[in-house]
Amino acid sequence: ATSWHEKRVPIEVLNEIMMATPDVEKIRESSYYYTQAPHLGGKNLTQMEWTRDLWESYGIKSEIVTYDMYANYPKGHRLGMVKASGELIYEAKLEEDVFKEDPTSSHPDKIPTFHGYSASGNVTAEFVYANYGTFADYADLQAAGIDFRGKIVLCRYGGIFRGLKVKRAEELGAIGVVLFTDPGDDNGITELAGYAAYPEGPARAPSSVQRGSVQYLSIQPGDPTTPGYASKPGAHRQDPQHFIPSIPSLPISYEAAIPILKQLNGHGPSAKKFERPQWQTGGLWHKGVDYSIGPAPGIQLNLYNEQEYVTTPFWNVIGKIPGYIKDETVILGNHHDAWIVGGAGDPNSGSAALNEVARSFGKMQEAGWKPARTIMLASWDGEEYGLLGSTEWVEDHAKELANGALAYLNVDVAATSFDFAAGANPLLDGLLHRATAKIVDPESASKGNISATVHDVWSKKIATLGSGSDYTAFQDFLGIPSIDMGFSDYSKTKTVYHYHSNYDSFAWMERFGDPGFRYHVAVAKIWGLIALELSESSVVPFSASNYASGLESYLHKIQSSLSSSADPGLTAALGNLQQTIDSFAAIAKDYDEKAARLAEALSRPQPLWHRILLWYKARKINTGYKLLDRAFCYDKGLDERGWFKHVVYAPGKWTGYAGDTFPGIVENIGDKDWEGARRWVGIVGDAINRAKKTLE
Ligand code: GLU
Ligand code: CA
Ligand code: ZN
Ligand code: ZN
Repeated sequence: ATSWHEKRVPIEVLNEIMMATPDVEKIRESSYYYTQAPHLGGKNLTQMEWTRDLWESYGIKSEIVTYDMYANYPKGHRLGMVKASGELIYEAKLEEDVFKEDPTSSHPDKIPTFHGYSASGNVTAEFVYANYGTFADYADLQAAGIDFRGKIVLCRYGGIFRGLKVKRAEELGAIGVVLFTDPGDDNGITELAGYAAYPEGPARAPSSVQRGSVQYLSIQPGDPTTPGYASKPGAHRQDPQHFIPSIPSLPISYEAAIPILKQLNGHGPSAKKFERPQWQTGGLWHKGVDYSIGPAPGIQLNLYNEQEYVTTPFWNVIGKIPGYIKDETVILGNHHDAWIVGGAGDPNSGSAALNEVARSFGKMQEAGWKPARTIMLASWDGEEYGLLGSTEWVEDHAKELANGALAYLNVDVAATSFDFAAGANPLLDGLLHRATAKIVDPESASKGNISATVHDVWSKKIATLGSGSDYTAFQDFLGIPSIDMGFSDYSKTKTVYHYHSNYDSFAWMERFGDPGFRYHVAVAKIWGLIALELSESSVVPFSASNYASGLESYLHKIQSSLSSSADPGLTAALGNLQQTIDSFAAIAKDYDEKAARLAEALSRPQPLWHRILLWYKARKINTGYKLLDRAFCYDKGLDERGWFKHVVYAPGKWTGYAGDTFPGIVENIGDKDWEGARRWVGIVGDAINRAKKTLE
């Protein structure tokens, strides 16, 4: 009998199939299919069956996996402005405009504007403007004597995860929150700067509303009634109060916000008076808004929000291509639920790309391929509510995954700009560099330059992972190294992205997001190439040294942020941590060198007995790489948010999206709790020592 590695299809052949298969027309078909009917979490079974059947048609064994989630659906809403006498002076329009150029904007089943996990309520109160509603914004306002108790807070979107704006308002005694989109946050693509508004041009449609979840993402994602365990039928349900707001909130457009903001003009301090630059970027001055904080005496908002809470099935699709090596699995995932009928960018640009990766894997199987390592594909439900489908699945399979997962590759929004963006565990950085260097940059190519690659034009900045998409449970709960990527860097892009609004539609995508679907295709190829390198390399292509460099830079960031008034005990402890990192770095370097030598030897012809010996050695090296990130998980988790187990990476407690590194240390320093910070230096040091042992 021939041994399995002799039957393998060469990686060059596989890469060629991966580069040749993803197709614009197919992607367009997938994108069109998903974006013509609502597919809100727990309301999209038809689309899930379609996805499962599609993957099955490519020869990938696929099934629908169900969890029972606690979630809300909108029943009713209203936002009015009233005088103390009760006279109604303004009724906000809570619906987005219908455009003939954008067919799904008039879909009969379009989804109302609302917040996932918002509380029901009917409140009437004076209101204040709190800028982005960041912790620092609220602190500035407190220092200026603003009292939030009994008030409704009006914030603009941006900067941090929306649920944390509501969380802080609630902590400070507010009784309701209204969030609006300010064109000042549209990177200069505004009507004021001469761009026409959608659908005529790329600027924001004035009526567009950002829906979204207001759960407390940085405290714990997943079903808020089953912290740390899976939402299976019959599972014990806990009170979700620590993870979701108890005050009502509503999202509105900038057009709807203008009359409300104008009522505050001249009342209370002006945003101009606050020093931090974040206060100065409002984009509605030309509309007569002077960004006064308020309150305007006697003028109240009436916020009515009615949500129906249910515990109801949500559906993931899980596909599997068994490999020869059963306990080293590569997982590719994207969510399929959207807040709106469309969702052409979020998430279905990723869904369409994933379907093309699946079709490419099907072609490879036709060419006789069975992967060396098992590959899994996931289409997650309920990401939008709070990473529900992925978190419950990870909690459900925690044991097998901790033992057998090699990496998780997430794509949420695949293509809504021309600029590549990525976040990753540093073990995986090299994979991103190598794959993007194989793909021609679509925009350069259309201008006749077919030698410029995505890598060439990419900023090459790889962010640390915070949260906001489905990699969170993999990376932060289990310590499975993860990547999150897509063309979604808007800093240079000449269009606004109508995130979570009705205009994230197929029509918008075709005209502004990714005309020609070239970037969808590029993502499919990059994603597939990374998966193939992970599944087929005889030696796992991780860089432990790069992880060590990461640790070192995170420590330096802490050290350089410490003022001279910092606790000397902490300074000394950080010095010791430096030594622990240094010794980890030395071992990591040896390990990577050993791995490189093995990979090199295995790439050359060898007598069978020697080959088997090398395979045996590689198996040990690979196990070390696989388990390395697990060593950074700490059973008890972070203080007051114990679901987050990773001691190096977590979403910032008050940012949600943006990540903190060494969160336990950083948060205690922020609170000037030196004892707590020293305790966390100890916990981090122990974790690094465990990582060292994993490699020794
Ligand atoms: N991507 C979703 C959002 O940013 C995630 C929601 C969540 O994790 O709560 O709204
Ligand atoms: Ca759970
Ligand atoms: Zn998404
Ligand atoms: Zn989203």
